[in-house]
Amino acid sequence: MNNKRKIIQIILLIIIGGVAILLVRMNTGNSLNLQNVEHNDIHYHTGVNIYIDGELQDYSNSQYMYASPCDLNQKQETDLSDPRARVHLHNNIGDVAHVHAENIVWGDFLEYLNIDGDDQKIVGYNKDGDIENITLAPITPDDSVVIVIGDAMPKSITFVSSERIIEAEKSIENCGK
Ligand SMILES: [Zn+2]
Ligand SMILES: [Zn+2]
Repeated sequence: MNNKRKIIQIILLIIIGGVAILLVRMNTGNSLNLQNVEHNDIHYHTGVNIYIDGELQDYSNSQYMYASPCDLNQKQETDLSDPRARVHLHNNIGDVAHVHAENIVWGDFLEYLNIDGDDQKIVGYNKDGDIENITLAPITPDDSVVIVIGDAMPKSITFVSSERIIEAEKSIENCGK
């Protein structure tokens, strides 16, 4: 009987020890994840309406969305050498740009949408007025911008509301990217 008890005690100790080691490992894993997330912590949003030849464009279709394979452990850093990873659209919201890198300009976003504005007239506005050289102008956080491409001016322009930008922020993206 004594022997059996000892064996049971030893087995219990082994199980408890194993669980303890697992818990410690899981905790270390979590803190590593947090560090990695902090490494690429640039992530902000800005509203944008684009008019081409006087018409407001709709980029909410899935073909304009950015989707990258998702690492469940979030250990993988976003590969920012891919221009499409730096600025893009998510969740079928076509009028809120997500910026994930430094020094991103509106020209980068137009490139993302495959808009070739080289030979066209392009002007930009925010609520303060004209934005000079819109294609080279930095995308600033929580701004709302209108880009007009082509000679025809729209009859009126609308800015994306700050409520809409907040709504887009709340949506769960590809693992929060
Ligand atoms: Zn975002
Ligand atoms: Zn994103």
